[in-house]
Amino acid sequence: MNFIQSSQVPLLHLQLPSNKQEVSACTNCGCTNVHTQLRHLATTYNISTNATTQPIYCPLGCGAKYCTISCRDRHLAMGHRYLCVGPHDEDHPLYKFVLLALETGGAFEELILASQIVIGSLIGTNASSTTSSSFLNDDDRLRISQMVALWQDAMHKDDEILPPWWTLVSSDLSNEEKIEWEESAKLTVDDAWEYLSRGLTHSTKSKHDNVLASYNSVHFAKLLTLITKEKRNVMVTTMLEEKLNTLHNNGKFFCFMEI
Ligand SMILES: [Zn+2]
Ligand SMILES: [Zn+2]
Repeated sequence: MNFIQSSQVPLLHLQLPSNKQEVSACTNCGCTNVHTQLRHLATTYNISTNATTQPIYCPLGCGAKYCTISCRDRHLAMGHRYLCVGPHDEDHPLYKFVLLALETGGAFEELILASQIVIGSLIGTNASSTTSSSFLNDDDRLRISQMVALWQDAMHKDDEILPPWWTLVSSDLSNEEKIEWEESAKLTVDDAWEYLSRGLTHSTKSKHDNVLASYNSVHFAKLLTLITKEKRNVMVTTMLEEKLNTLHNNGKFFCFMEI
């Protein structure tokens, strides 16, 4: 899942929960390699290996994996340390936000990507957060400023140009069904925003409250529209698949693996 920044590089990306059991990709940069992938499959299917290196996990306990410590630290500094549900129990609003996103099924991607833009915008608007972080590189700072710009679009564009997400109703529905869908979608967005904004107030220890207070659920709904229009689903071939395909095309078998 990519939110395209240009024809080449995604501004945001998200691995779908549906293939996390099979594919181990870095939560920050999306990369994987053959050894990581083989180790992941061995762990998933309980196959013993002589692997000595351990995966790099989110230190807050959510289970997110990274390719390097640098990727992990950059991801935390880009906002994951505020969005991470690792330190929280099921009563925490951020936990409820993720649960709601999962329960919506079809809107999971939009809601999670939107939450990343919200925290990116908060961090970018309170400029001291980005300038003081030694973990962020120039590309990260550029991405954060683009998230600020996206949020500003969501706040200021007219409804005709950028309608709230709940008005994106399929034309196949009857009038009655459309009204029902809109009401239910609006409730979902209101609940999601309530959980997210309360959760961020808590997790940022009110550091960004002055900015957060100027955001509301209609802005959030327009951001969801923006993401719905711009997102792209892409299938990425893992390095393991590439390696196996190359071996197969050369008439060889993958008969020995050291991981
Ligand atoms: Zn990475
Ligand atoms: Zn985490």
